[in-house]
Amino acid sequence: MITCKSDKELNYMRDAGKIVAQAHKEVENAVEPGVTTKELDRIAEDFIVKKGARPAFKGLYGFPATICASINEEVVHGIPSLRKLENGDIISIDLGAEINGYYGDAARTLPVGSVTAEAEELMRATEQALYVGIDQAVEGNRLSDISHAIQSYVESHGFSVVRDFVGHGIGSRLHEDPQVPNFGRPGRGPRLRQGMTLAIEPMVNVGTYEVLTLPNNWTVVTRDKKLSAHFEHTIAITDDVPEILTRL
Ligand code: MG
Repeated sequence: MITCKSDKELNYMRDAGKIVAQAHKEVENAVEPGVTTKELDRIAEDFIVKKGARPAFKGLYGFPATICASINEEVVHGIPSLRKLENGDIISIDLGAEINGYYGDAARTLPVGSVTAEAEELMRATEQALYVGIDQAVEGNRLSDISHAIQSYVESHGFSVVRDFVGHGIGSRLHEDPQVPNFGRPGRGPRLRQGMTLAIEPMVNVGTYEVLTLPNNWTVVTRDKKLSAHFEHTIAITDDVPEILTRL
């Protein structure tokens, strides 16, 4: 069931979204060659807790950390570790927070030092695909209009969209209905209504869209080991343009 949030609920989600956005900023400021992903996890967790919120991922389905930290060919769900970032890496950070029973969720891919032109273009296209998708999140459109816009944009730039993981509704739970795929034909699925809140999150690969899960049962990597990027915002559908809840 897809829920439409009340003004009061949306205010709680704005609070959660703001904390998520600020936590991303804290992590971004710390990303540099030599830092470990465990250190980044500690920075995010300390910030979220200091704000009176709760890390949304920690313990969810057994995930052991506050952030997902996915490097280079890792797509999503990388587990923070003692691995040090190296110049030329790209790192996808996904994090969520809950406050007053409501959630925010956002992801972004960051360069470590100086990265290749291909990595720059992948990150730029993935972030832009997110905004192209958000533009379709307006009352009266259908859900797959978001999906189609993202896929079209990504493929027109020569990249591919991951099929096995998708965006989602969000609110009083991190993962709510509906699923929000980053691919598909337009004009399908539920009609979008004011008060619906979605986490839209294209995962974009340089090569094949096929992915594998590593033996740790969490880390998802590209099958061809080429680079992957991930951008996500939590948004609310309004009577006007979509409201991005996880932006500063
Ligand atoms: Mg998400």
